[in-house]
Amino acid sequence: MASWMEYFAWKLFRLLRRLHMQGILRLVTPTRMFTDYFKGFEKVDAVKGIFGEKTGEILGNLKVEFIFFGYMGVDGADGHLMVNERYLNNGDKEDIYLDVIHELVHVRQWLEGKELFDPRYDYVDRPTEIEAYAYTVTEARKLGWTDARICMYLKTEWMSDEELKRLANSINVKCR
Ligand SMILES: [Zn+2]
Repeated sequence: MASWMEYFAWKLFRLLRRLHMQGILRLVTPTRMFTDYFKGFEKVDAVKGIFGEKTGEILGNLKVEFIFFGYMGVDGADGHLMVNERYLNNGDKEDIYLDVIHELVHVRQWLEGKELFDPRYDYVDRPTEIEAYAYTVTEARKLGWTDARICMYLKTEWMSDEELKRLANSINVKCR
């Protein structure tokens, strides 16, 4: 019985893999669009600075998936945005705004064919991250953030003090 079940599971697995399982699974989850949840971003200068004249078109086609962990991210397979709904509801609004800017830089990188999760680099040294953080920090300074506030933003629970310093150095932010 067990082996029959295993055989069936294996056949199903192979079938799903052949049909590109991720695509199949996505078909059964409703597609949510970025512009239904993030209003007015197409008019923001920092966003137009990322996508230029394609801003409206790219945001109009960007899908968003709600996840139950972390903060935000971009799926390296198809370039859609992933957002933790709880963070969106409870997080600091300026943090969230800057996170969206950061992730939209990754969306552009993905559209350019860049590898978002290049395993040759640690997170804080990865060129795609440094570009996204540098752009985001420029925007944070326009909001009037001090370096101390920016450092609070950069520091996450899974980043060591040494990694934070490395990242901060790369993007010209002074963290004590
Ligand atoms: Zn990033």
